Amino acid sequence: MSHPERPGILLVLSAPSGTGKSTLIHRLTAEFPDFAFSVSYTTRAPRSGEIDGRDYHFVDKDRFYELAEQDFFAEWAEVHGNCYGTPRQATLDMLSAGRHVLFDIDIQGARLLKANLGQGHFVFLLPPSRQELEQRLRRRGSDNEEAIARRLENARQEIAAAREFDSWIVNDDLERAYDSLRAVYLALTTRPAAQPQLPETILASWQEPQHG
Ligand code: 5GP
Repeated sequence: MSHPERPGILLVLSAPSGTGKSTLIHRLTAEFPDFAFSVSYTTRAPRSGEIDGRDYHFVDKDRFYELAEQDFFAEWAEVHGNCYGTPRQATLDMLSAGRHVLFDIDIQGARLLKANLGQGHFVFLLPPSRQELEQRLRRRGSDNEEAIARRLENARQEIAAAREFDSWIVNDDLERAYDSLRAVYLALTTRPAAQPQLPETILASWQEPQHG
């Protein structure tokens, strides 16, 4: 649904790898289907089940760098050896059409987006502890020891940036973490700036002649 009378909200969720970000994002967009998801550009190969244009715009490195040079991205970053970028104009168009937009971007990208767009609410999803993240990465079974060590070292550097974010959510329990994310979303979308037309509609109902 589009509401051109007010700009949409920009909500960014960032987390070290293995923290459970994708699960929370899927739940939020399933519960609030009006919430648009920002489709990034990437140079990584599609995984099975991923659809070009829905999950990502898949492009090769030459095309990605060409777009980056043309200032096509509101931010871009290299994550685990691949490039990922947020298209600037598509994002601004969605927001000015009144769509609320959710971003799943890495921590360096989130910092750049904040600096470049000067708006948005930035949520940092934290694992409960280093030990817990290490166990989760091992349970996932998709990485060898070297990759696990690399992800943990990345997480250490990323967590150092947590203070720059607007909200922190610890994913110690999925239900609780989801409740917090949902609360952030609801708090943002119930601010007067996100629904400027509401008082008018309600006030109008009080201005009708009263009988009885
Ligand atoms: P994956 O390859 O698993 O889909 O994503 C790897 C990482 O890239 C995730 O942390 C995800 O948040 C991040 N990512 C996805 N799209 C973007 C983007 O447009 N910009 C940045 N900076 N990171 C992104």
